[in-house]
Amino acid sequence: MDAAVYTGRAAVRAGILVTGTEVLTGIITDRNGPWLSERLREIGVDVAGILVVGDRPDDVMAGLRFFAAEGVALIVTSGGLGPTADDLTAEIVARFRGRELVLDRNLEEGIEAIIARLRGRYVGLDQAALSAANRKQALVPEGATVLAPVGTAPGLVVVPAEGIGGPTVLVLPGPPAELKPMWATAQETAAFQAAVAGAPSLAREMMRLYGIPEAEIANTLRAAAESGVDLSGLEITTCLRRGEIEVSTRFSPDAAPAYAALKAFIIDRHGDVVFSPDGATIDAIVADALVAAGATLAVAESCTAGLLAARLTERPGASASFRGGIVAYANDAKTAVAGVDGELIRAHGAVSGEVALALADGARQRFASTYGVGITGIAGPGGGSEEKPVGTVWFGLSSEDGRTLVRHVRMPGDRTAVRDRSTTVVMHLLARMLAGAGDRR
Ligand code: ATP
Ligand code: MG
Repeated sequence: MDAAVYTGRAAVRAGILVTGTEVLTGIITDRNGPWLSERLREIGVDVAGILVVGDRPDDVMAGLRFFAAEGVALIVTSGGLGPTADDLTAEIVARFRGRELVLDRNLEEGIEAIIARLRGRYVGLDQAALSAANRKQALVPEGATVLAPVGTAPGLVVVPAEGIGGPTVLVLPGPPAELKPMWATAQETAAFQAAVAGAPSLAREMMRLYGIPEAEIANTLRAAAESGVDLSGLEITTCLRRGEIEVSTRFSPDAAPAYAALKAFIIDRHGDVVFSPDGATIDAIVADALVAAGATLAVAESCTAGLLAARLTERPGASASFRGGIVAYANDAKTAVAGVDGELIRAHGAVSGEVALALADGARQRFASTYGVGITGIAGPGGGSEEKPVGTVWFGLSSEDGRTLVRHVRMPGDRTAVRDRSTTVVMHLLARMLAGAGDRR
């Protein structure tokens, strides 16, 4: 990740405090911190950092104080809002903001109603203990704006008590399915809006490139500046992800002409490499092109063993064009299930252009699709040779109208990276094939 110098710094900063011993210890991967970070950026708030702490009161308090010392206007916390003893975020945030905890009667009734409904689902629970534990969630810092529970725990927007100063704290629950809708609710509150007031409304634009090294983009940005494109109002971030380069730019409305000039410069210099001038993903581009052509697709995978089929079906509506896939890992399975001639495998090896194309044809015929894709490669760490080192993957594409595209790539990285990158390569080959590329048989 590489961020260009940016002079128009956003005035409002925020810190994200993720709580939870299970997150700290790595049992659970943090999905809230990165998600909140993106949302904050979208509304023009700069994120000072994401801090993960365990469920220890002192550590949660230290995290809050750390961000306060950084001078942020807002701290967003995730987790520790539930009914159990280790859920103490509301209490600590209250202390941090100089607020007493008070019982919110409306909230108490609301939570009672929620658990009354849940009660029916479980038998043998200690009802009194359950009510007491949930009543705890109705204790809120005085003066806080309460966000209606999505589960049983309410969220909170806590403004500092008079004379205390420092950040407002938005307290959100840990489960992502509760945190996300509550984030939306929080946006509507006056307390939240006051905390982020003054955040510039920034436009965000994205371009995606495929097939050049990341360093090239740095050169291009330099060249753009030298040729007179004014980059001073553009916050440009370039990032290599799944084998593609993403150029993401934030700018205030008055820098829109500068962004337009930069975009034109990049397209002019890199041509086809810019497969997505407006940020559409290759998956969306391929899916749309298949639908637009009324075409269907089937795959036969060896080294990716279903990853491509999974990727092609990630998007809702995939059934409009995706017909199905074969995982043919063993050589005799390639023959028996995908119809690859055993002679071809003996003559060229399983990892070869001939076999990749035969897999594509096999998939296309078996599923009666317009297009077929075959993948065969050496994901490693073993199995490489001098002629076919680890990371060598062959791709075959074939179409009903007699076009073929056979390519191989030698990919860096470990087994996971090679397998994942292979699916990206296929997406780009498919996009080209759908645009009419390919050799006639
Ligand atoms: P609950 O009422 O469920 O206890 P809570 O607000 O107290 O909610 P936590 O106890 O911190 O939240 O977390 C509950 C569960 O939510 C975790 O066990 C985990 O499955 C999920 N979760 C919490 N934080 C995160 C996170 N940062 N990323 C992904 N999942 C999380
Ligand atoms: Mg909890």
